[in-house]
Amino acid sequence: MIEVRNLTKTYGNNIAVDDISFNAEDGEILGFLGPNGAGKSTTMNIITGYISSNSGNVLIDGVDVLDEPVAAKKNVGYLPEYPPLYTDMTVDGYLKFVYDLKKCKMPRNSHLDEICELVKISDVRKRAIRNLSKGYRQRVGLAQTLINNPGTLILDEPTVGLDPRQIIEIRELIKKLGKNHTVILSSHILQEIQAVCDRIVVINRGKIVANEKSTDLAASLSDSLSLRIRVEGEESAVKKLLGAIPDIRSITVIREAEKGVFEYQIEPKKDADVRREIWTKLSARNMPILMLKTNELTLEEVFLKLIVN
Ligand code: ADP
Ligand code: MG
Repeated sequence: MIEVRNLTKTYGNNIAVDDISFNAEDGEILGFLGPNGAGKSTTMNIITGYISSNSGNVLIDGVDVLDEPVAAKKNVGYLPEYPPLYTDMTVDGYLKFVYDLKKCKMPRNSHLDEICELVKISDVRKRAIRNLSKGYRQRVGLAQTLINNPGTLILDEPTVGLDPRQIIEIRELIKKLGKNHTVILSSHILQEIQAVCDRIVVINRGKIVANEKSTDLAASLSDSLSLRIRVEGEESAVKKLLGAIPDIRSITVIREAEKGVFEYQIEPKKDADVRREIWTKLSARNMPILMLKTNELTLEEVFLKLIVN
C-alpha cells in the first residue's frame, strides 16, 4: 500500500504539488490523471524517492521513503516519463545491468526469462536498444521495473508516443500486471485511465480535485442537476419567467426544436433541484413543458469540468 500524506513541492515561486494526499491500496490500479504540468511526474518522482518534497510523507508498505529510502525503494518498480535506457546496450545487457544495480537475489536467468516472456521482448533480447521501436523500448522499460519482483509499480505516462496498437498492447500488459502488483499509472488521457484503472485521482495545478472509483466519478459530478427542457411559448417570456427563480444560475436557448417550441439549457446553483419550481411557474402561465431531462455527464465532460480552473 502507498500512502501519500500532505505532499508539497515548490520550484521557486511555482507550487508544482500543493498539499496532496491519497492512498493506493494493495492490488489496486490507481490512475493519476491530469493535464500537462499538473504535477504528476513531480509526485511520482517524490513517491519513488528520486526528488525530495518540501513537506509531507510517502509511506510504501508502512516504510517512509525519506527515512528509509533503500528499504522503501526495494519494493518499487519505477518507469519514469523518459526511461533512462542505455541505447548502446543490448536488451539483455541492459536487463542484467539493472539486475545488478537492484542487487537482485532471484535466480538471474530464469527471472529475466520470465519477465521477457511476460512483456513479450524475448525475440529482441540480443538487439541493441537503439534499434528498437518506441513500443519495444517501452516494454524494455517495463521489464526493468519488474526486476526483483517489486510489489508496487509506478508508471509515468507509459503509452506516450506509442501507436494505437502498441497502446492497446501496453494497456493489456498493465492490466495483467495489476493482478499481482499495486500500480500507480499516470496519464493526461482520460480514456486510458478509464480503460485500465480501478480508481482515479485527478490532479490539476498541483491540487487533487477528485478521488473516486472509476465507475463513480462521472455520477458524482453529474448530480449538479443541470437540465435540458423544451417549452412551448414565446422565448423571451420563458427566459424571464425562469430567470426569476433564485436557484437558477443561467438559462441558454439552444434551438427551436419544433415550431414555437424552444429548447433551453438550465444551470441551477450548486446542488439545487429546480425541476418542481420550473413546472409550477410554467404551468401557471399555461406554457407546456414538452421535454425535461437531466444532463448526465460523460467522464470526458467531468474531466473538463474538473480542470477548468
Ligand atoms: P506533469 O507530469 O503532470 O505534466 P510535472 O510534475 O512535470 O507535471 O510539472 C508540474 C509543474 O512543476 C509544472 O509547472 C512544471 O513546469 C514544474 N516543474 C517540474 N519540474 C521542474 C523543475 N525541475 N524545475 C522547475 N519547475 C519544474
Ligand atoms: Mg509528466
